[in-house]
Amino acid sequence: MGPKFFGSSLKKRSAIAEQIKENTKMSRKIFIFDTTLRDGEQSPGASLNSAEKVEIAKQLARLNVDVIEAGFPISSQEDFASVRSIAQETWGPVICALARAVEADVNRAGEALKDAGKPMIHTFIGTSDIHIKGQLRKTRDDVLKMAISAVKLAKSYCEEVEFSAMDASRTDPVFLYEIVQATIESGATVINIPDTVGYAIPEQFGQLIKDIFDNVPDVGKIRLSVHCHDDLGMATSNAISAVKAGATQIECAINAMGERAGNAALEQVVMTIKTRGDYLNAYTDVKTQEIINTSKLVSRLTGFVVPPNKPIVGSNAFAHSSGIHQDGVLKERSTFEIMLPQDVGLSESELVLTARSGRHALRHRLSELGFDISNEQLDKVYERFLSVADKKKQVYDEDLFAIVGDELPASPQTYSLEYIQVVGGTPTPVAVVGLQKGEEVIKEVACGDGPFDAACKAIDKITDVRVELVDYSLHAATKGKDAMGEALVRLRSNGQTVIGRGASTDIIEASAKAYVNAINKILKFC
Ligand code: MN
Repeated sequence: MGPKFFGSSLKKRSAIAEQIKENTKMSRKIFIFDTTLRDGEQSPGASLNSAEKVEIAKQLARLNVDVIEAGFPISSQEDFASVRSIAQETWGPVICALARAVEADVNRAGEALKDAGKPMIHTFIGTSDIHIKGQLRKTRDDVLKMAISAVKLAKSYCEEVEFSAMDASRTDPVFLYEIVQATIESGATVINIPDTVGYAIPEQFGQLIKDIFDNVPDVGKIRLSVHCHDDLGMATSNAISAVKAGATQIECAINAMGERAGNAALEQVVMTIKTRGDYLNAYTDVKTQEIINTSKLVSRLTGFVVPPNKPIVGSNAFAHSSGIHQDGVLKERSTFEIMLPQDVGLSESELVLTARSGRHALRHRLSELGFDISNEQLDKVYERFLSVADKKKQVYDEDLFAIVGDELPASPQTYSLEYIQVVGGTPTPVAVVGLQKGEEVIKEVACGDGPFDAACKAIDKITDVRVELVDYSLHAATKGKDAMGEALVRLRSNGQTVIGRGASTDIIEASAKAYVNAINKILKFC
């Protein structure tokens, strides 16, 4: 027997259940709500500036997601500005801003979204007793009232309002039905059921979604969404199980970015629906051919390297190495391949550029890779492309990503590396560094424990910014001894962590560029 609260609507309920059964027979569209820029950006160590967020948002629009959650405007001035810029500069998807179920948050979200073509406010509050008593120190009744008034206030800013019952998977179902019904009555157009702490098991989570359909009278009026975390490695499974049970929106992030172990990976969710649409009776509007480009962009800007064995976007995801598998795939692809590499944007015969490739070929390839650049920017990139092509003969897509990342930084650069000369070995490595600032080139010399350390010390003397090196890594962008080295440094200064990147066929130069790039970002915060 269901809760007394809904006892009178038994008939209505079974009619809705019939409708849902009918709906699940037809192929249903599953809305893809991307939270790379909000939950994803909360990944420890990932920090993006406003220009980088806009760049990712534009790529998410090319990927054709339905909703972009752009940020949490009340959390900081910087986040407010990012959401506003994304709202102004991104076309296509709904732009969403997060707000706790309190007046100030909702107002701030509404302000940030003022210029959005399709705005949506996403308001949330903890609904489990653990959250209500432990975190909020309130009662269920308080929480219900806060949710209702936040949704009503959000509704005064925009038509689309999403309400999330935070920690839904550990919430008393009877209270969950009640708050879901009440927020729908207050105007919510999307209800999100989060497995905030990654606690659910797929079968059980699917059952929860079914129970919501069976117990909330007005559920047929809204889009039911899920938001799953990967603490036990089941985020995607839980989300897919929810779709099977009737949910029509999945919140997810590129490369599974997100708090702690991350969110459901957008690429996994989308490709599962595409590959197993037969079983799920569902589809998405995502342009899957943009998946790899998007994954690379997010990885490059956040500094989160994608492991080779990661589903869909890992470098080994489509590589067959055992003899039996290779033989099978060569004879008949479907023997061991369930997806086509082209479907996620991997080109089978990668177009290789050389020093003889003209500006036109370069521009063409760059636009295929998702870079929309001006003539002036093309001049800069082309010049660098030629110097790289001279050194390494063949220029691959990965090299182009590195070159563009290097030559067209998302934010203005105070300093740029003009030259570097390093003498390594014992007893003392020495670096001579020249940095350009405005019209002048400033030169410094320093000794260090190693060549990179010496270079950093010389740079520090010039910039005079106190920084702490938190992390430093170097990897080859492509195969071969002549590959470009891509360096990534993470610096901390005044409690702010930034990521810097640099690329060069010379690894010390790449590292120094990354270091200077990070310092430029710190200077922007000062
Ligand atoms: Mn989350």
